[in-house]
Amino acid sequence: MNFSELGLSPKVLEAVTASGYTQPTPIQEMAIPRVLERKDVLGIAQTGTGKTAAFTLPMITLLEQGRARARMPRTLILEPTRELAAQVEESFTKYGSGQKLNVALLIGGVSFGDQDIKIARGVDVLIATPGRLLDHFERGKLLLTGIEILVIDEADRMLDMGFIPDIERICKMVPFTRQTLFFSATMPPEIQRITEAFLHNPERIEIARQSTTADTITQLLVAAPHHAAEKRETLRRLMREAVDVKNGIIFCNRKSDVQIVWKSLEKHGFSVAALHGDMDQRARTVALDGFRAGTTQYLVASDVAARGLDIPDVSHVFNFDAPHHAEDYVHRIGRTGRAGRLGTAYTIITSADDKSLAAIEAMIKRSIPWLGPSLADAKFEEAPRPERGRSGGREKPTGGHSRRASKPERPTHSDHTEENTAPSVQEARPPREPRPAREDRPVRQDRPAHPPRRHHQEDDGPTPKGLGDHMPGFMMRSTKLKG
Ligand code: AMP
Repeated sequence: MNFSELGLSPKVLEAVTASGYTQPTPIQEMAIPRVLERKDVLGIAQTGTGKTAAFTLPMITLLEQGRARARMPRTLILEPTRELAAQVEESFTKYGSGQKLNVALLIGGVSFGDQDIKIARGVDVLIATPGRLLDHFERGKLLLTGIEILVIDEADRMLDMGFIPDIERICKMVPFTRQTLFFSATMPPEIQRITEAFLHNPERIEIARQSTTADTITQLLVAAPHHAAEKRETLRRLMREAVDVKNGIIFCNRKSDVQIVWKSLEKHGFSVAALHGDMDQRARTVALDGFRAGTTQYLVASDVAARGLDIPDVSHVFNFDAPHHAEDYVHRIGRTGRAGRLGTAYTIITSADDKSLAAIEAMIKRSIPWLGPSLADAKFEEAPRPERGRSGGREKPTGGHSRRASKPERPTHSDHTEENTAPSVQEARPPREPRPAREDRPVRQDRPAHPPRRHHQEDDGPTPKGLGDHMPGFMMRSTKLKG
């Protein structure tokens, strides 16, 4: 099928051509005509499937008629993180070029004043994280009664981050007659419930997800002592010895470790930036832009900060920590080896990682070879392990491996993002379970306590901008279920 058959306006078609897209992806093919018919859409799809264009292109077409009124945005897009919100804004800029679209971004880490001025002028597209949107609403500067289209993107991540009560509130604040476009990578019961409550006879579109790792990725395990300084030394050795490194992402399970590893690598002369949820928006943007432009060779990142981001293909992934959830492994290494290119993914394994490694190998249905001696063959002096009940006297044992077991801390305001506030100095403490991912989440007195659930696969990694003819196979697979 061709883009010109979908009902998009000539101006939008021009922008699509300028973007270099030759063919709509399955979700675009199925969703765009439905959105243009003003139908509700339930898209079960993750990032990388072209879902952003699946809603932005028809929205721009529909917005060509009519004008925005002061303080009354015409459409609202909810995103779980600032980066995703900023990425959607970029899509509107890209696909809406040559159109007079007023787009406003309401995210934490940016002053209210500038955002207020934009809203007051009249906005066609308001892109927001839920906490910041409610903050604006409560300040009385924003009216949601003019919303014609509501987009809820990455709903299962919203659930992970405890945003569902906010989403329910917002859904009740926008007109009942609006059109709703709802996207989620997975459909856990809580999300199912929301769709039943807030969508009207939606067109259900499901895109097959990526569950395995690409053959273009060389995966290797590297045994290391559990001791953090020695683990960092192992990382540096790997980075120095790896061949044909164009650029790389180093993943840590905790944002505190992202900070430590970043500083340490910088000290050792690497060209490196950090990306984690506690950084302010400007710093995050600078880090990402530098990495995308190639001025920074390495990015040390946490899963939450990196998930869903459109980061160009990277040649190497270094898992400083083995991820606790196997699906994160697939996401992480999916950052490399894309669109037929070759990539290498190293995972540093210590004595604390046996369960994580077993889960990863079970998920990808293969065992990953060791680079050098396996952990069993390598002789390291190991720190005592918490699951054997020896906490080193500093902390209580964590009580098993359930994420629910470790209650997340609440961040203190909408500018604060967090994945985990676990202690940063591994040398002094035994390993702890990570806390669930939440970003951009303000403390709201009116919000009922909602324990975040275990997070699901939300992203199959980055997709190069403008895939052109090199569309990965999974983007082309689809199933359509009548809803
Ligand atoms: P998304 O799933 O929205 O994050 O999109 C993933 C990537 O695919 C983005 O970099 C888009 O620019 C790109 N993309 C979206 N639609 C198409 C298409 N029809 N053909 C090629 N690339 C596309």
